[in-house]
Amino acid sequence: MQYDVIVIGSGPGGYVAAIRAAQLGLKTACIEKYSTFGGTCLNVGCIPSKALLDSSEHFHNATHTFKTHGINLDNLSVDFDQMLKRKDQVVSENTSGIAYLFKKNKIESYQGMGSFVDKNTIKIKKDDGTEQTITGKNVIIATGSKPASLPFLKIDKKRIISSTEALKLPEVPKHMILIGGGVIGLELGSVYARLGAKVSVVEYMDSIIPTMDKSLGRELLKVLKKLGMEFYLGHKVTGATVSGDEVTVTFDDPKGEKKELKGDYCLVAVGRVAYTDGLGLENIGITVEERGRKITVDEHLETKVKGVYAIGDVIRGAMLAHKAEEEGTLVAESIAGQKPHINYNLIPGVVYTWPEVASVGQTEEQLKEQGVKYKAGSFPFKASGRARASMDTDGFVKVLADAKTDEILGVHMIGPRAADMIAEAVVAMEYRASAEDVARMSHAHPTYTEAMREACLAATENRAIHI
Ligand code: FAD
Ligand code: NAD
Repeated sequence: MQYDVIVIGSGPGGYVAAIRAAQLGLKTACIEKYSTFGGTCLNVGCIPSKALLDSSEHFHNATHTFKTHGINLDNLSVDFDQMLKRKDQVVSENTSGIAYLFKKNKIESYQGMGSFVDKNTIKIKKDDGTEQTITGKNVIIATGSKPASLPFLKIDKKRIISSTEALKLPEVPKHMILIGGGVIGLELGSVYARLGAKVSVVEYMDSIIPTMDKSLGRELLKVLKKLGMEFYLGHKVTGATVSGDEVTVTFDDPKGEKKELKGDYCLVAVGRVAYTDGLGLENIGITVEERGRKITVDEHLETKVKGVYAIGDVIRGAMLAHKAEEEGTLVAESIAGQKPHINYNLIPGVVYTWPEVASVGQTEEQLKEQGVKYKAGSFPFKASGRARASMDTDGFVKVLADAKTDEILGVHMIGPRAADMIAEAVVAMEYRASAEDVARMSHAHPTYTEAMREACLAATENRAIHI
């Protein structure tokens, strides 16, 4: 065999698996069909979306809050081409960073489409049509996911678009209609709402970000409505058609009455499906699950074929970059003979709107469903000195702790820098801290993190100091 490990796909699952395997002394190769490394996350996902979220938030603040801070600016305008250029630059710095890390770790990379000849032999077909094969003792499938659509809807990539096109539109839309009020819809919807577009969200469920703690969706809805976004919750999309530059989206309201919206772009953000096209899984006897087209794996992330593993978006669980990274590390370490473990309950979820939304552990709805007796403590940012100073007073931190032992079972927050603040909750929960443990630790003043301490105090005998 030429390699100890061959990784197919260079997203956060694949590149982390390759680096960890190389660190452990395994001879490693990584195959990527695109011309740059980093997968969905670096090229058309996490990184470019956050670059646009940051740029658009600067514009929003400059137009809406600077005056109150005592800063006057005249004739503000958006140079959208420059905004996209900066985003592309950020992407390029990150993708070339992976190329550097591969070199540093002596990982051999191949550009082309990888497919199984047998369980140890991978054929690589390059863009110019030439082919070569490589062999490895272990193969890690990290081929990720692609946008899902609806059976009655064709994403034409011009007017009816997925997140990939929404990250490189030729103009700021006048009216963007979003199908789906999940993470992608709300992040990219808020980018364009801040840049001046009218944004309408049609969501099938009766709340936005429906899988997170319900209190977060309720608060985020208020904030996004303030931003001017409009919502059609509990509405079922039935079709979308394009005529010239106009898109018409039709949907049924909760009573079954027909409605329609006209706009210039329709972003379809109804989830993602695992990507295994052209991988030759049939050559090694692996079939994909009917729902979501995912590859089935055991607790060691090994498929039914010994020595063939799968990680990240292509298997069950949350479709998150940091979840894929954990799994990449786990598989590399398992192959090297270690006994790693992932605590899936403690993988945080974040929505990068402003304020940010972040969550870890059990939601209140889950605890109720499981019949677990719990205490809840909340602290609103409007009572935080730091939040008042920065004018970021929307949102709260909510801590759920076991009624008897006080162990923290879930933390749900919406507020400034919640994406970074959730790390404290993850650490506390990994060490099985009680709410009182966290409440008794010093938190620098004035910081947003004091809200976490106060929420823990509130959960511990209702002892919050500042409310
Ligand atoms: P991917 O990143 O999808 O990488 C798979 C790679 O495999 C791709 O590069 C693909 O070209 C390659 N490939 C596929 N088949 C083959 C083949 N046969 N041969 C060779 N190469 C192949 N997650 C977060 O945690 N935080 C965020 O803020 C966030 N924001 C997002 C924003 C958007 C707009 C989107 C779309 C997603 C976002 N995600 C975010 C989700 C995140 O991008 C994914 O969960 C993550 O990229 C999954 O990593 P992966 O390694 O499993 O697959
Ligand atoms: P999602 O699952 O977050 O949201 C999809 C939404 O569409 C849901 O609220 C669902 O109820 C709704 N929906 C489904 N069918 C519908 C229909 N016919 N009509 C109206 N609404 C409908 O999916 P997404 O927003 O497309 O994101 C895909 C994946 O990418 C997610 O799994 C997420 O984990 C990942 N992602 C993560 C981040 C992040 O971590 N910040 C950012 C972007 C994407």
